[in-house]
Amino acid sequence: MSEFDAIFVGAGHNSLACAAHLALKGWKTGIFERSATIGGAVQTREFTLPGFRHDFGAMNLSLFAGSAFHRKYANELKAQGLEFAPVADCFASAFPDGRWFGVSNDLEKTATLMAAFSATDAATWRKLVAAFPAEAEHLFRLLGSPMSGRALAGTAWNLWRKKGIAGALETGRLLLSSPRAWLEENFESPHIRATLATWGMHLDFAPDIAGGAVFPYLESMANQSFGMVLGKGGADTIIRALSGMVTSAGGKIVTGADVAEITISAGKATGVRLASGETHTATKAVIAGVAPKALTGKLLPNGSGDAGFDAAMQQFRHAPGTMMIHLALDDLPDWRAGPELRQFAYVHLSPSLDAMSRTYQQAMAGMLPDEPVLVVGQPTAIDPSRAPAGKHVLWVQVRMLPAEITGDAAGKIAPAHWDRVKDNYADRVLDIIETYAPGLRKKILGRAVFSPIDLERENPNLVGGDQVCGSHHLAQNFLFRPARGYAGWNTPVAHLHLTGAATWPGAGTGAASGYMLAQQLGVR
Ligand SMILES: Cc1cc2nc3c(=O)[nH]c(=O)nc-3n(C[C@H](O)[C@H](O)[C@H](O)COP(=O)(O)OP(=O)(O)OC[C@H]3O[C@@H](n4cnc5c(N)ncnc54)[C@H](O)[C@@H]3O)c2cc1C
Repeated sequence: MSEFDAIFVGAGHNSLACAAHLALKGWKTGIFERSATIGGAVQTREFTLPGFRHDFGAMNLSLFAGSAFHRKYANELKAQGLEFAPVADCFASAFPDGRWFGVSNDLEKTATLMAAFSATDAATWRKLVAAFPAEAEHLFRLLGSPMSGRALAGTAWNLWRKKGIAGALETGRLLLSSPRAWLEENFESPHIRATLATWGMHLDFAPDIAGGAVFPYLESMANQSFGMVLGKGGADTIIRALSGMVTSAGGKIVTGADVAEITISAGKATGVRLASGETHTATKAVIAGVAPKALTGKLLPNGSGDAGFDAAMQQFRHAPGTMMIHLALDDLPDWRAGPELRQFAYVHLSPSLDAMSRTYQQAMAGMLPDEPVLVVGQPTAIDPSRAPAGKHVLWVQVRMLPAEITGDAAGKIAPAHWDRVKDNYADRVLDIIETYAPGLRKKILGRAVFSPIDLERENPNLVGGDQVCGSHHLAQNFLFRPARGYAGWNTPVAHLHLTGAATWPGAGTGAASGYMLAQQLGVR
């Protein structure tokens, strides 16, 4: 048994960032991770062949690079080996009619490409980009602040002071809009609308879901203004740097340590019991980087003592699942729409708003989508160090999928457990990519497929393959993430806190929930 000031359940990047901050403040921190590797959704491993390094989950590290944590600790992270690979050609879409459009960090390049679809849209794009710094100030402040009345009042006051009442209401309207509403108001080309709307599908915002417009808006404007960032050698560069910060400040990280229970005494969290039976105590805090259902369903066998909280954790809603297909390739895909697509970090295959709406609806109804949204990541186009000389890896994210299959929208695959279906479904995905990039199959040297259930096996926070650990729809975001009254990483149990993607400000590699919690605790 060891005694710590703070114990962390799980070594996701939020927990690591929180632990790093506290360890540097002198706290004795212990992190217990069930898997053999740390990092949770942010890992880089050789899934296919030796020398081919695949990002298990997150590939785009722009949120981490732009985070408050990185701003504060850039030197420490760099000293621990953090290295980014900047991306100029960020994302593009290829279309069934053979056309393509992409967003690069060069405004003239993007605007020229857009003008080929619509001169009006290109003019709108320039106006939106010019207005972005003023808008971003408020949105980033909102997303980077705790969900407390005081922080919200400060953000609202600043917004009103800078933009007046009409401007402030426009920002509020953007936050409430669906992707389709915002895109149809601003752009006339169906190709441009589809390219931008795909960013909503990285979360669970199909085109018609209120509250989703801000994600296509922020991602496209940020990519235009600052470009994108990958990890040099793999996304796990942030995990190695964070864990280096923790251990060099005296923190302890234990892998293969499944936390079975959080121990409580007199209404206060006192430590953890591992599945092995080992116990460890925490004098100041137990911080669980887990999915809400697991907190009260597994880690607190007698509940939290507050029936309302326990019910809210059990009712926490997950988003549809993801399949990941990792390919080792002889060469990058030969995109039919144009060789320029080979240099983009992401190529989206999601032809229209209606196709995306249909895909989401099919997944919600338990059906295998006939035409899933595909995010084809080409990390070795930016960072060749991830594969042997001249070779490549392809990172294919398949959105959106049911956790339990009740049918097939294409009428070809009989419903069964994902373990029996995943290879057939991966073949459907490769067939779709072949229509955009003929000859892809001949370039494949190795393939690894993770079904939604495999993702959950790797990391139980990815419930049903939900890559964002919980729907981000309005009723479960902002003051309601993970539940009303608990957006401040608190629980009814004293000294017990939640962190991670299920908590405010949600999924992504921004380390924001971990760092904001650390700042709250650090003053204790
Ligand atoms: C396929 C995929 C693609 C993504 N792409 C991007 C992207 O490109 N850019 C981006 O910004 N974000 C992306 N995301 C989202 C982002 O990676 C996650 O939101 C983020 O990494 C979650 O971090 P976290 O701190 O919540 O913990 P997680 O990464 O979820 O880690 C939690 C850890 O806790 C461990 N754990 C859970 N229960 C226990 C227990 N009882 N005992 C011990 N350990 C336990 C788990 O094993 C895991 O290691 C992606 C996610 C996925 C899955």
